[in-house]
Amino acid sequence: MDIKQQCKLAPYTTFGIGGPAQFCIEVSTIDALKEALQFAREKQLPYIFLGKGSNTLFDDRGFEGVVIICKIDHIRFDGTLVTAGAGASFSLLGAKTARKRLSGLEFASGIPGSVGGAIFMNAGANGCETKDVISSVTFLHSTGTLEVFTKNALSFSYRTSPFQSLEGCIVEATFALIPDDTAQHRQKDIVSYRVETQPYKERSAGCIFRNPTGHSAGKLIEECGLKGAQIGGASVSKKHANFILNSKEASASDIEALISHIRRVVKEKTGVELHDEVRRIPFTLSASYDNEI
Ligand SMILES: Cc1cc2nc3c(=O)[nH]c(=O)nc-3n(C[C@H](O)[C@H](O)[C@H](O)COP(=O)(O)OP(=O)(O)OC[C@H]3O[C@@H](n4cnc5c(N)ncnc54)[C@H](O)[C@@H]3O)c2cc1C
Repeated sequence: MDIKQQCKLAPYTTFGIGGPAQFCIEVSTIDALKEALQFAREKQLPYIFLGKGSNTLFDDRGFEGVVIICKIDHIRFDGTLVTAGAGASFSLLGAKTARKRLSGLEFASGIPGSVGGAIFMNAGANGCETKDVISSVTFLHSTGTLEVFTKNALSFSYRTSPFQSLEGCIVEATFALIPDDTAQHRQKDIVSYRVETQPYKERSAGCIFRNPTGHSAGKLIEECGLKGAQIGGASVSKKHANFILNSKEASASDIEALISHIRRVVKEKTGVELHDEVRRIPFTLSASYDNEI
């Protein structure tokens, strides 16, 4: 096992923010994952799982515990089925399947997360969601038991998966796709549109807020005149108002302050309550931890 002590978390996230974790362990097999869990248990430390850190905001003080980074990254094809390790790039999976003239995961192309993170978040774009193409998910319970969930046993909703209320780690998933000669053309259009409409090359965690029912969070923020708003090193993207950027060495506190400011102004001006899409990991995990801090 590759165990790093007092390991800076910022490089493991697309925001580029976060103090040190007591321990970081990168795992590329199920056995290594089990060992990492055992390590955390022996040290009596809390642990969390991380994919590519593209939807995560760590605390400036870091994380008091073990961060287990999933790098199980195989991709295997079997006809119209594709099986990918939880640590595989979701974006690459979208490109690879489209290149093989398989349709269903074109929307994944350009989402900079892992397969595990995409399932955990039920990531979506262009009218598609990860759940639409899942055939089965292999999950390691924190007790050490492996379980394969088939699609029918799983109930997902907007940016919500059943794995958000289970203790353990997604290790692999199989997706059922359909043959389509036009898949690659569509996938390339999706990437071009993304690059045109989102601050794709800047440091962010994608959309900060979920879209409230019947509204676009980005539009509401823009209509409230908040594009370009700044607190410390954090700013609201001028290209897409639902993206907060780490534009000038922002701290997590800068991002938190800007999130609160946006939420307050949007509530005052429109009456609509915004809820976080980004996962905020506090320094200390308490039993009452939930994402809306
Ligand atoms: C530029 C940009 C564009 C984006 N566009 C989109 C978009 O179009 N649509 C969209 O939905 N999202 C988008 N996102 C957000 C993000 O990429 C997705 O939510 C992605 O699915 C997160 O995957 P990750 O591996 O980075 O997750 P992480 O940030 O690493 O983790 C997110 C959560 O998932 C949990 N997790 C991760 N891996 C596992 C695992 N193997 N087992 C159990 N739990 C796990 C973590 O504990 C954490 O709570 C975008 C982000 C960026 C930076």
